[in-house]
Amino acid sequence: MLQQINGQGTHSLLCSNDPLREDLQVFLESEIQLAELDDLIKVNPVTPATVLRCLQERYQVDVFYTNAGCTLVALNPFKPVSYLYCPELMRDYHIAPQLQKLKPHIFTVGEQTYRNVKSQLEPVNQSIIVSGESGAGKTWTSRCLMKFYATVTNSSISEESHERVERIEKRVLDSNPVMEAFGNACTLRNSNSSRFGKYIQLQLNRTQQMTGASVQTYLLEKTRVAYQAPLERNFHIFYQITKGASSSERLEWHLPEGAAFRWLPNSERTLEEDCFEVTRDAMLHLGIDHSIQNNIFKVLSGLLHLGNIRFAESEDESQVCQPQEDAKCFVMTAASLLRISKEELLETLRVRTITAGKQQQVFRKPCSRAECETRRDCLAKVTYARLFDWLVSIINGSICAESSTWDTFIGLLDVYGFECFPNNNLEQLCINYANEKLQQHFVAHYLRAQQEEYAAEGLKWSFISYQDNQSCLDLIEGSPVSICSLINEECRLNRLSSAIQLQTRIENALSSNVSLSRDKLSKSPNFVIAHYAGPVQYQIEGMVEKNKDPVPPELIQLLQHSRDSLLQKLFPSQEKEPEQVSGQSKAPVVTVVSKFKSSLEQLMQVLHSTTPHYIRCIKPNSQGQAQKFQANEVLSQLKACGIVETVHISAAGFPIRLSFQSFLERYDLLRKPQPVQPSPSSRLSRSSPTREHSGQQPSPEEEVGLQSLIGDILRTLPPMTRPA
Ligand code: ADP
Ligand code: MG
Repeated sequence: MLQQINGQGTHSLLCSNDPLREDLQVFLESEIQLAELDDLIKVNPVTPATVLRCLQERYQVDVFYTNAGCTLVALNPFKPVSYLYCPELMRDYHIAPQLQKLKPHIFTVGEQTYRNVKSQLEPVNQSIIVSGESGAGKTWTSRCLMKFYATVTNSSISEESHERVERIEKRVLDSNPVMEAFGNACTLRNSNSSRFGKYIQLQLNRTQQMTGASVQTYLLEKTRVAYQAPLERNFHIFYQITKGASSSERLEWHLPEGAAFRWLPNSERTLEEDCFEVTRDAMLHLGIDHSIQNNIFKVLSGLLHLGNIRFAESEDESQVCQPQEDAKCFVMTAASLLRISKEELLETLRVRTITAGKQQQVFRKPCSRAECETRRDCLAKVTYARLFDWLVSIINGSICAESSTWDTFIGLLDVYGFECFPNNNLEQLCINYANEKLQQHFVAHYLRAQQEEYAAEGLKWSFISYQDNQSCLDLIEGSPVSICSLINEECRLNRLSSAIQLQTRIENALSSNVSLSRDKLSKSPNFVIAHYAGPVQYQIEGMVEKNKDPVPPELIQLLQHSRDSLLQKLFPSQEKEPEQVSGQSKAPVVTVVSKFKSSLEQLMQVLHSTTPHYIRCIKPNSQGQAQKFQANEVLSQLKACGIVETVHISAAGFPIRLSFQSFLERYDLLRKPQPVQPSPSSRLSRSSPTREHSGQQPSPEEEVGLQSLIGDILRTLPPMTRPA
C-alpha cells in the first residue's frame, strides 16, 4: 500500500529520510480506529499519523472541516457541495447560541470573529488568515466568508437602509470577479490560480453592519503577461476579451475572430472563468463605466499585439534589428491601440540610450535581438502592473467607507502558501519569507493562547522544548546582515558580481546561522534555507537582476507620450524618472525585496493589532479529483502549513485534555471512600452538566469542588513513570 500511495506522486517536501515518512508508515500500518473527532488535538496520541488518519476518515464521509486547536483545517472537496454554503446554513451558524456545538465550518470561524467584534467593550479588530498551497481552496474560502458576512450583516438591518447596504455589499462582492479576471490565471496546479496576495478588510460600524471594505494586494506575478509556462495561460482577462468581444468591439480593438496571439497560449480550452460578461457587470457596479472599460480593453489588446512583435537578428552590431516580416502590422496596430507613435515605439524597443560623462552626453546603442524582446516584454509588464494597481485603487475608491462610518474591521488574508519547486528563485524567497513571518505570528499567538489556558488552570508549564523560527527569519531579514540585505546591496552598489561571488558573500557573512546551508552536489550557485516547513534550495543565478526589476527610462517616457487617457493616468508626465540603479545615487534603491519587506512589515503590524483566526486549506490530491485522499500529499501540506508544528507544540504541552467530568467518570472508582467527604453527586449537586456537555463554564464554586475532588483521586494514583 505504501508503494501504491508513493506511486501517486511524491511531494518534493517529503524526502527519503524525512521522519514524516516514518509517520506515514505508522499511519499505513496502524489499526487505530479514530472516531469522528471534530478536533485534531483530541486524537490520542497526537501524532502526524493519527492526525492524518482522522482527516482521511472524515474526508471519506464528506466531512471537510476539522478543528486543530485554534486552527480550522479545510480539505478541498473538489466537487460541488453547495449545501455547505447556502444562506440557510449561514443563518444557522449566525444565530446558534453555542457556536462550538455546531460542526466545524468556515462559518464557525466567520461567526466567531463577528461575535468577537461585537462582544468586546473596546472594539477589537479581527483577522482570518487563510493559507495553503495553490489550489487548496484559499480564494474559495475567502470568497465564501465574504458572502457569509454580506449575508449575516444584511440580516440584521432595518428595511429602509436595506437598499443602501445591499449596494455596498454587492460592490464588495463584485471586487472579487474583477480582481480575479485581472489577477488570476490557469496554472498547472489550479485553473483559477490567484497570481497575487490579497488582504481585504471588511469595515463594520457600531451596529456591526458592513459599511465598506478595502483591499491591499501583494506581489502580482506580472511576468505572466509576457511569459506563460508550458500548459499554463495568461491572466483570464485576455481570454475574456478575445472570446467575449462583440463584433463592433472586435473591429475597434483589432481582435478579429480566431486571431492568433503568442501571449495567449491554450486559448482553445474554455474555462468557467472566461466569462467576460461577469467581469464587465462587476466593473460597472464598481463604477467603471463602459467608456473606461473600453479604454482598458483597448490597451490590453494593444499589449497582445505588442507580444506578436518579433525581431530579426541584425547582421551588424551597429545596426538596429528589424521587426520580422509578419510583425510589421503588429507594430502598427499596437502603436495605434496604445496611441503612441509607431516610430517611437520601434526606436524605444531597439535602441538603448546611455547618458555618460561630465557633460552628460547621450549615446545611442542598438540593442541585440534578445534585448529588443526583453524591452518589449518589460513594456507589457510595467503597463499591466500599473493597470492592475490602478484598478485596485479604483475598487478601493468604490468600496472603501469613510473612516467616520466604521469602527472595526474583519480582515481576510489570502496569500500564497509555502513553495518548494525544483527551481526556486526570488519569487519563492519572498513567498516563503512571508510564510515564515505568518508562521512566527501563528506560533506566538498559539503559544500565548496555550500559556493563558494553563495559567488559568494553575498549571506549570515551560516552553523550553519548542524551537521557534527566529533563526530562519534572522537569516532572511535580520540586521545588520541577512540574505535580503546582501541581495539589496548588490543592487545598491550596482555590482556585477557573479552568482558564485554572491554565494561566497552570503556564506561568509551568515555562516553562523544554523538555518543556512548549501547543496554542494548542485552545479549551480545556491543556498538552502531550513524553513519551518522544510528545506528549500534557492538558485542565485538571476536573483539580483530580478531584485532590481529594471525598467529602462525610455520605456516610461514612451508611455508618458501616449495620447491615450488611461495610459496618461498610469504614466503621468510629471512623474520623476525611475530611480537609476547607480553607484553614485544617494537615495535608497527601491528593489523588489525592499518593497515586499516593507509591505509585509505593514501587514504584520496590522495583523498584530487584530485577534487572529487561522484556516489552513489542504488539497487532498494534486489532480483536483473528488473523493481522492493522497496521504503523502496531505502530510506534506500539514507540515507546510504548520499543522504538524501545532501538533508538536500540543505534544510539548499537555497532550491529553479531559474535562473535569470525564476525569471523574473515569477515575472516581480509584478514590478511597472518605466518610467525611460529601459524595461527588452532592458536591456537584448544583452543578448540572459540566463544560463538556453543556458548553458552559462551571461556576467558581463548582470548579473548586471539582478540583479538590480530582486532587483526592490523583493522590490515590501511583506515581507516573516514563516509558523507556
Ligand atoms: P487557492 O486560492 O488556494 O489556489 P482556490 O480557492 O482557487 O485555490 O480553489 C481551487 C479550486 O478548488 C476552485 O476553483 C474550486 O473548483 C475548488 N474548491 C475549492 N474549495 C472548494 C469548496 N469548498 N467546495 C468546492 N470546490 C472547492
Ligand atoms: Mg487563490
